[in-house]
Amino acid sequence: MSGFTRDTKRYGDRLVYEALGSKWGRYHGKHCGCGLNWVTAHAEPAGFTVVRQGNGWVALVGPGLTEGVDESTLTTNALWEAITGDPGAQDWYETVRITDRSEAAETTRKAEHDAYWAERRERAEAAKKSPATEAQLKYLNTLVSRVGRERFDAEYNKTVKGTDIAARDANERTQQALRRLTKAAARKLITALAGP
Ligand SMILES: [Zn+2]
Repeated sequence: MSGFTRDTKRYGDRLVYEALGSKWGRYHGKHCGCGLNWVTAHAEPAGFTVVRQGNGWVALVGPGLTEGVDESTLTTNALWEAITGDPGAQDWYETVRITDRSEAAETTRKAEHDAYWAERRERAEAAKKSPATEAQLKYLNTLVSRVGRERFDAEYNKTVKGTDIAARDANERTQQALRRLTKAAARKLITALAGP
């Protein structure tokens, strides 16, 4: 999201404006349309400086935007004018998003991050053990009739190789083989069979 930001880790004690490339690129395309890069063709010549950039965003500082401004009345009018050629008409004020980098905040952030990944891992583990769902079995039945027995057997055995699931026995009925699949294996087999 675009916005005025303070983040000591990223920007020191500077106030920056984080501009989303898609949003400002759209403004530029609509109002200027010169086809050049809005940052290098307009923002920088107008006196703004890129202090950091990432995937799809740039953090800018500059006159009228983050410098020489009253922080209680922040607008993007200066940048708007540089990019579009028209005076900015933003008559509402933006707040500053402050990222707390204190040790306590960082600890909380890390704990949330770890918990998120632990849950993801747990779900993946559970999927490895839990049986295929009825919906998966139904779809697999459709796929079996579409691809034929030979391809199905080949993909089945490829899917279960290296897992606790045994390869298909020549005498085993298709339904029995399908019932032995776990949710994770069924997902993998579906991907293999539904593909080209
Ligand atoms: Zn332009």
